[in-house]
Amino acid sequence: MKAILVKEPKSYHLVEMPKPHLGDGAVLVRVRYCGICASDFEILYGLNEEEVVYPIIPGHEWSGEVVEAGKEFEALVGKRVTGDNVVACGKCLPCLRGHRNGCGQRREIGFSLDGAYADYVVVPGRNIIELPADVEFTTAVLAEPIAVPLHALRLARMEKDQKILIVGDGPIGLLAIILARHLGAEDLMIAGHHQGRLDRVAKWTGAATVNTHESALEDAVEKRLGSGPDLVLETTGRPPVVSASVRLLGPGGTLCLVGAYRDTADFRPNDVVLYEQNIIGSLSYIHSEIEESVRLLGQGLVEGMNIVTHVFPLEQYARGFDVVEKRRDHVIKACLET
Ligand SMILES: [Zn+2]
Ligand SMILES: [Zn+2]
Repeated sequence: MKAILVKEPKSYHLVEMPKPHLGDGAVLVRVRYCGICASDFEILYGLNEEEVVYPIIPGHEWSGEVVEAGKEFEALVGKRVTGDNVVACGKCLPCLRGHRNGCGQRREIGFSLDGAYADYVVVPGRNIIELPADVEFTTAVLAEPIAVPLHALRLARMEKDQKILIVGDGPIGLLAIILARHLGAEDLMIAGHHQGRLDRVAKWTGAATVNTHESALEDAVEKRLGSGPDLVLETTGRPPVVSASVRLLGPGGTLCLVGAYRDTADFRPNDVVLYEQNIIGSLSYIHSEIEESVRLLGQGLVEGMNIVTHVFPLEQYARGFDVVEKRRDHVIKACLET
């Protein structure tokens, strides 16, 4: 099969390799599309030492068709699917408490297990989620990135009547605003610096926007929301933005960190104490949340919103990566077609 193999940081190529072996309890998926995610660049450049195991085929936002399965999951053969990428032991205390992200042996397809920038990917049968008939393969690549902010909004205990600020206008930030709106929140604001994306998400959701290249985040938030927001979802992964987010958070508010932070952030712990604020972290999602994402896609969550803006054949991966990394050509989400 064809695959994009990252042998080690900064060394990646399209290669021809044997079809992967189908282990116990797993199914073989013929990949159709796989979304390109910012976290893939950390794999290419060697910036995610905590999670990535080389050599690795990246790709964790996939859709496809089950073409082979062991006895246990035979019924899935021929189904159009996506799936949950988290593979946990199922036996340790965090797993038994339903907190699979806390599993000491946690692995993730596309990070520490081979992913879907390939003709085929092996996925545990229990991770598979069937697609509703009206959800196209290209739309289904959004199930995984929708599950990420869905998990974050749940952990942060979002309430409809809260003032909510999403920081970052990448796909996770945009999908977070779309979800918060869908869940009934009305007082929404998104901060970013891609005016085209901000304009589009304002049209889709009615959210207020601030372009941080034009005005300082704290001033804009104060002007628009008066008091600080009740909930801030930080998706940029930039430590100075974390510091600013703590400063502008309202009393009793919650700051939820959803980015990948490779550095330390400065803030005054006593502000957190004096205003009884909460700072929490959110990592990927649980199985039921990606199921929920698929259900929401089936109900038309992103209908009429052109979120998957670009499709490139697998062979043109370098062009695809370039468009996403340099945010060329008004890209929001690009995917590779295999
Ligand atoms: Zn992703
Ligand atoms: Zn475990």
